[in-house]
Amino acid sequence: MSGTGLLFNIQKFSIHDGPGIRTVVFFKGCPLTCYWCSNPESQDGQPCKEARSYTLEEVLKICLEDRLFYEENAGVLPLSSHEYIGGGVTLSGGDPLAQPQFALELLRALRKEHIHTAMETSGFAPPGVFEEISDAVDLLLFDIKHFDNQRHIEGTGVPHDLVLSNLEKALDRSKNVLARLPVIPGYNNSEEDARGFVSLLVSMNIKRLQLLPFHQFGERKYELLGLTYAMKKVKQLHPEDLEDYRNIFLKQEIDCFF
Ligand code: SF4
Repeated sequence: MSGTGLLFNIQKFSIHDGPGIRTVVFFKGCPLTCYWCSNPESQDGQPCKEARSYTLEEVLKICLEDRLFYEENAGVLPLSSHEYIGGGVTLSGGDPLAQPQFALELLRALRKEHIHTAMETSGFAPPGVFEEISDAVDLLLFDIKHFDNQRHIEGTGVPHDLVLSNLEKALDRSKNVLARLPVIPGYNNSEEDARGFVSLLVSMNIKRLQLLPFHQFGERKYELLGLTYAMKKVKQLHPEDLEDYRNIFLKQEIDCFF
């Protein structure tokens, strides 16, 4: 083991980033620039006050400290019908794909220790890189931002072709993938948008979808960093605001949940 990774946080006892109790490793850097991003400090891959370099051994040691907790059922199962009910380690960010070598080394080291792994990702990486990483992870938490390419570019700064082809390939190769949809007011939250997503999911034979309602946890960070925030004062969404939206998926037999 030899690599180092630039991380801006390692958070223990999380119950919102995959099944069970988890340690979440936050990678610095992201290939996308979503204007609603709640972790603006994570977007560029540069060292800063919040981030530091960790060796693989160091991260592994921190993750293994909570092995006993991973083996317990947290009693909270954010994945409605997922078969795995223990915990583990989730790679998040930013996007771990911004540091693919370190992500790969960490996933492989955790697998050797029989720790369940998940990765939150935008799926935006060269196909070979994405394939290698998806082979090394147990569960991909794969965010889809928009079904329409032009709207995807407007929201995230990149086209969606690569994202969708990586997703399709992971599904074809029977990888364990949970599709997730961050629901953003004024961007992808209309009923027409929901119908557009349904067509996309049906065409890819995706039968489960987690909705991630827009929240304002990042607002203060933009202020502290002196950055302009396009979503300033936009109201948060709650599951009860999205019942009609969700029903559009359910009617098409997509197991859609929060
Ligand atoms: S993919 Fe996630 S981390 Fe990257 S810019 Fe978008 S919201 Fe932020």
